[in-house]
Amino acid sequence: MAASFDRDARTALADGQLRGALRQATDLFAERRRAALATVPDWEGARDRARAIKDETLLHLDRYLEQFTTNAERAGARVHWARDAAEACEIIGRIAEQRGARSVVKSKSMASEEIHLNERLARRGIEPVETDLGEYIVQLAGETPSHIVVPAIHKTKAQIAALFAEKLGIELSDDVATLAAAARQALRRRFAEADLGISGVNFAVAETGTILILENEGNARLTTSLPRTHVALMGIEKVIPRFADLEVFLQLLPRSGTGQVLTAYQSLITGTKRRPEDEGPEQLDIVVMDNGRSRMLASALTRQSLACIRCGACLNACPVYRQIGGHAYGSVYPGPIGAIVTPQLFGLAQSSALPYASSLCGACRDVCPVKIDIPAVLLHLRAQVVERRAGSGGALERLAFSAYAAVMARPRLFECLVRGVRTLGILPPLRAWTKWRDLRPLAPHSFREQWRARLRDPAAP
Ligand code: SF4
Repeated sequence: MAASFDRDARTALADGQLRGALRQATDLFAERRRAALATVPDWEGARDRARAIKDETLLHLDRYLEQFTTNAERAGARVHWARDAAEACEIIGRIAEQRGARSVVKSKSMASEEIHLNERLARRGIEPVETDLGEYIVQLAGETPSHIVVPAIHKTKAQIAALFAEKLGIELSDDVATLAAAARQALRRRFAEADLGISGVNFAVAETGTILILENEGNARLTTSLPRTHVALMGIEKVIPRFADLEVFLQLLPRSGTGQVLTAYQSLITGTKRRPEDEGPEQLDIVVMDNGRSRMLASALTRQSLACIRCGACLNACPVYRQIGGHAYGSVYPGPIGAIVTPQLFGLAQSSALPYASSLCGACRDVCPVKIDIPAVLLHLRAQVVERRAGSGGALERLAFSAYAAVMARPRLFECLVRGVRTLGILPPLRAWTKWRDLRPLAPHSFREQWRARLRDPAAP
C-alpha cells in the first residue's frame, strides 16, 4: 500500500501543476482557518474540552457504543456490527440486495473509501454514484480522494473542465458556476432514481441514538432523505456521550476543516420517519465498523489517534503534505493523521515508510482541534519499524548504530573523525543525506582543541 511512498513522493514533487494546486488550496484553507479561529473567544478551552470528551469516550467506548445502539434502535434504526472491511461491505451489499437496490447515491464517507465499498458494490451489480462534488470529480476521473475534506484538492480548474467536457459532454468552460451546474444536473437525476443512499457519520450521540452529518452542498441531505433506505457507515470512534457535547465539536470542526464558522448543512438524524406521510427513508441501517480501530485502544498513546474528527487541518499545515499531496501516501488517509492511522489500521508491513513521512516539526499537533500529539505517535511507530527491522535482519542498521556508539564512547577517535571530515568532507556513503540538505560547516577548531590550546596558552585565539 504505502511501500511505494518514496517513489510516489518523488513523482509528486516533479509535478509542478499538482504542487501549484496544493499550495493554492492549502494556503487558502490555512488563511480561512486563522480568521475563523478569531471568532471563538476561548479556542484553547474548546480544544481542551473536546479532547477531554474524546478521552472519556474512548476509555469507556464499549459502554457508549451499547448506549448508542439501544437508543438508535429504539428510534427505529437497525444497528449492525462489522469486525472488518469485508464484513461491513457484506452487510451493506446484503441490505442493498434485500431492498432490491440497483442504483445507489453516496455522500462523502472516508470510512466507505477505507473499505473500498464502491468496488465491492459494483461486483454485486450495484452502481454507486458519489454525490459530493469533489468525490464526484475523482470518481469520474477514476481516481481516489487525495484529501480527507477536499477530495479533488489535487486538481486544477482546467483539469476539471477537461474532465467534465469528456465525461459529461459539456462545452469546455473555466467558469466554476457552469461546471458546478453541470455536475448538479447530472446528479439530480441520480438522486431521483436511487433506491438506496449511503452516508458517513461525523458524530453519533450515545444519549439519543442520533447521527450528525456535516456538509456544504446539500447532497448528504438528499442522499439521506430521498431514497427509501439510508445506510450510514461509521467507525466505532465516532460516538460521543451527550447531545450537549456537539456544541464544542461544532465550534471546532468547521473552523478547522474549511475555515467556516458552521457548515451550510447539519443533518441530525434520529431513527426513521415516524409516519408514512412524513418525508425521509423507511429504513435506516447504521453499520458500526471496527476494522482495526480497537487495536489502537491498547495504550493512551495510540488511543489518541481515535480522537480525530477528520477536519483535515493537519494536512493543510504539514510541510510534507503541502508538497506531495495525498496520493503519494498510498492510503485513503493521507497527511499526518494518515501517517499514524494507516499503519495502525492496516499494519506496518505495508506502510513502514509512512511514520517517516514527517519532519516532526509539530505543525500538525499545533493545529489539531483535539490536540492529538501526532509526532509522539509517529516516533512510537518509528520505534516499531526499527524493532521489526531488527527482528528480520536490519544488520546494516545495527552495524551503523554500533559504530556510532563506539565512536561516541571514544573521544580521541571522535576527534580524529571530525578532523578527517574537516579535511576530506563527508564520506561517500553519507553523501546521499547531504544531497538535499545543507550540512553546517564545521568550526575550524573544535571546542576541545580550543580548550587544550588555551590551557597551554591563555592568550590563544
Ligand atoms: S488529526 Fe487533528 S488536525 Fe488532523 S484531521 Fe484529525 S482532528 Fe483534524
